[in-house]
Amino acid sequence: MTATIPQAAPVAATSERPMVEAVEVHKRFGSLEVLKGITLSVERGQVVCLLGPSGSGKSTFLRCINHLEQIDAGMIRVDGETVGYRECNGRLYELREKEVAAQRRKVGMVFQRFNLFPHKTALENVIEAPTQVAGRSRSAAREEAMGLLARVGLADKAGTYPAQLSGGQQQRVAIARALAMRPEVMLFDEPTSALDPELVGDVLDVMRGLAESGMTMIVVTHEIGFAREVGDVAVFMDGGVVVESGAPSQVLVEPREKRTRAFLSKVL
Ligand code: ADP
Ligand code: MG
Repeated sequence: MTATIPQAAPVAATSERPMVEAVEVHKRFGSLEVLKGITLSVERGQVVCLLGPSGSGKSTFLRCINHLEQIDAGMIRVDGETVGYRECNGRLYELREKEVAAQRRKVGMVFQRFNLFPHKTALENVIEAPTQVAGRSRSAAREEAMGLLARVGLADKAGTYPAQLSGGQQQRVAIARALAMRPEVMLFDEPTSALDPELVGDVLDVMRGLAESGMTMIVVTHEIGFAREVGDVAVFMDGGVVVESGAPSQVLVEPREKRTRAFLSKVL
């Protein structure tokens, strides 16, 4: 049964409330508890870089924010609105499908694998969701998409199919595609991990530009240089918990926790 969602705490004015707020988020797959109480707040315009060993729950956490997974307990809010399930007085409340759809539109996601439609050109990939999901006119979507392709440095590739693009170019199309839905927050899940080293820089440059334009971003990455230069906050996760978080200049340079130091010594 769907019920009205009670508000746990008063929500501040739009400008002050966090863009993404996670409180004690728990998620399990069968007997495996993957998220063991993640609490994290991302302010509007902030770039949060999420680091941690494989299997620590980073992707699962992003997927919960984007409704690709439902949380078992705790609370996630995007732009002040509750996402998915939350526990309240021992009961779980569920969002209506429409509410879920509306919230998902606020969140853009870029995956390690770009997953472009192979039979569609770069431009067609970018206008797909705006025309099919958001119901925008083809001409308006096209115009916006051309602007987005220019923004990711691919204005001249609008008519090109994914197979004719490099991995880095495909990933930049994927970023443009996510931006085409005009999200309030962008989630990146290891966006450069599948790329040849020489293609990583262009993708990171696009992300840097996006950050500079004021986009709120949560970026799972092992690119320590990017996290230090672009990140406002670095969060180190391990075993489904946040081990430490703070300024990248602290967490990534002088970590307090042994587990963070051990991880950094492996990726640096
Ligand atoms: P990370 O992104 O930090 O590498 P993940 O969030 O992908 O970690 O995975 C955390 C753990 O959850 C891993 O042990 C993984 O095998 C498990 N897991 C992730 N998704 C599923 C799923 N759909 N079903 C079962 N186990 C899963
Ligand atoms: Mg992952």
